Amino acid sequence: MQQGLFGDESVAQNCIFCKIIAGKAPAHILYQDEQVLSFLDISPVSAGHSLIIPTNHHDNIFSLSEEEITAVALHAKRLAPVVKRVTKSPGLAIHQLNGRAAGQTVFHYHMHLIPCQHDTPQQFHGRRPASQSALTELAVEIRQALTKA
Ligand code: 5GP
Ligand code: ZN
Repeated sequence: MQQGLFGDESVAQNCIFCKIIAGKAPAHILYQDEQVLSFLDISPVSAGHSLIIPTNHHDNIFSLSEEEITAVALHAKRLAPVVKRVTKSPGLAIHQLNGRAAGQTVFHYHMHLIPCQHDTPQQFHGRRPASQSALTELAVEIRQALTKA
């Protein structure tokens, strides 16, 4: 099989997160470098719900290299306090699902950062898409705060 920028080209063409990495699908991007990309979840559990993904396609944790998971973890360490502060949240949940049986719905490895108020539901997925203007506004605020972090 042809190997391209994203490894398996056919996977990259069908994966929504690979499309976001390639700039072929829209997203409210928070940070991007060669190894990781973070962006706001389209159907957030709470305002500021963010996703961190490796730029290489991996379905789940099982094929991720130590270097890639380290890059995701280091970005989480930097992004989490910024998201928590900008959303004025007393807590922040981090979770990550592997395989349909675990509830995973997008099969490109990703880590969820979910800001928690005291009444934020302890759920993995939001119920409906957020308004585009709310996502745009929050992404600008988080990006600005991240440059100072
Ligand atoms: P999973 O169930 O795989 O752990 O979570 C997938 C997450 O991706 C869900 O929270 C869902 O709302 C989010 N998601 C799915 N499609 C898109 C998309 O096109 N753009 C963004 N920003 N988030 C998405
Ligand atoms: Zn992908």
